[in-house]
Amino acid sequence: MRKTFNFSAGPAVLPESVLQEAADEMLDYKGSGMSVMEISHRSALFQSIIDETEAALRTLMNIPNDYEVLFLQGGTSLQFAMIPMNFMRNRKADYIVTGYWAKKAYQEAKLYGEIHVAASSEDDNFSHIPDCSDLDISPDSDYVYMCENSTIYGTKFHKRPDSKGKILINDISSCFLSEPMNVSDYDMLFGGIQKNLGPAGLVIAIIRKDLISETVLPGTPTMLRYKTHADKGSMYNTPPTYNIYIVGKVIKWIQSLGGLDKMKKINESKAALLYDYLDKSDMFCGLADKDSRSLMNITFRTGSEALDSAFVKAAGENGIISIKGHRAIGGIRANLYNAMPIEGVQHLVQFMEAFEKSEGQYE
Ligand SMILES: *Cc1c(COP(=O)(O)O)cnc(C)c1O
Repeated sequence: MRKTFNFSAGPAVLPESVLQEAADEMLDYKGSGMSVMEISHRSALFQSIIDETEAALRTLMNIPNDYEVLFLQGGTSLQFAMIPMNFMRNRKADYIVTGYWAKKAYQEAKLYGEIHVAASSEDDNFSHIPDCSDLDISPDSDYVYMCENSTIYGTKFHKRPDSKGKILINDISSCFLSEPMNVSDYDMLFGGIQKNLGPAGLVIAIIRKDLISETVLPGTPTMLRYKTHADKGSMYNTPPTYNIYIVGKVIKWIQSLGGLDKMKKINESKAALLYDYLDKSDMFCGLADKDSRSLMNITFRTGSEALDSAFVKAAGENGIISIKGHRAIGGIRANLYNAMPIEGVQHLVQFMEAFEKSEGQYE
């Protein structure tokens, strides 16, 4: 057992058993005498790593064969530009703005065309997911964009928006593999892996094959065309090999727990521990509306900035790491990604109880 519990938003906690396995293989991967970091991406050894990672992801998420799985770089933020470059053929798109990252994606898309905000909860400080059952989408819109889970505000869609037959693109960075998803409900799912699946530097995109084409906005660089990567099995250039290797191990770890249904149950019981406490606490108050709550990112505050800071400081001294809220919203945030053990959440809640009892004078 490690000495601290890491509640960081990302890069974030990874399963201890995965890190241990990676450590065991660090100097000699499968008798090769080399670390995975040192192996050519063109070698048979690495080809089997990427093939196995993709196959395991397809099985775990039940990804239909008419979807491409791409391993990309540039972080989730580069997708905010790649999506319009590749799909905004009429130069029109609809964005659902439910938080910090959805807004960033919206602002980037505006560089390429006319963007309509189909729904937003910004007036309400992004504390809930707006009703998306009857969106006002223009008939010639190229796609509808959403972000499943707001990492910073701690909200999540609990119902798929009705995109009225339009292509639906979903950023799932902060809830990737946290629960089952019906892939064919979306035309593209994508996310950075540094929240739930591995080290920073890799993005996984799952895209309907028939949407990937030569037709992109004029001037789109070769590296920023999905087709470039689809045609070359994500090896047009050197992919982040070590990250792909770790993702493969994290997927195996989820499978060993019982797959995504089980992962969801575990995540629900972890989140319930903290939400239940927030709902009865007199000192701490949850920030997201109850019907929009995230299982992964839980935001709360005490009502006083000074007390929030005192809490974050005392938590840090008690093995509770990276619990400060994002600078955009302040307060406190506990990120309960897949690899956060239930003991970590129990420790946090016990600490919150003790802190509350001490009326902020916790020593
Ligand atoms: C972290 C995060 C991002 C940004 O990811 P980068 O890889 O840093 O660009 C985008 N969207 C969501 C939902 C995130 O949680």
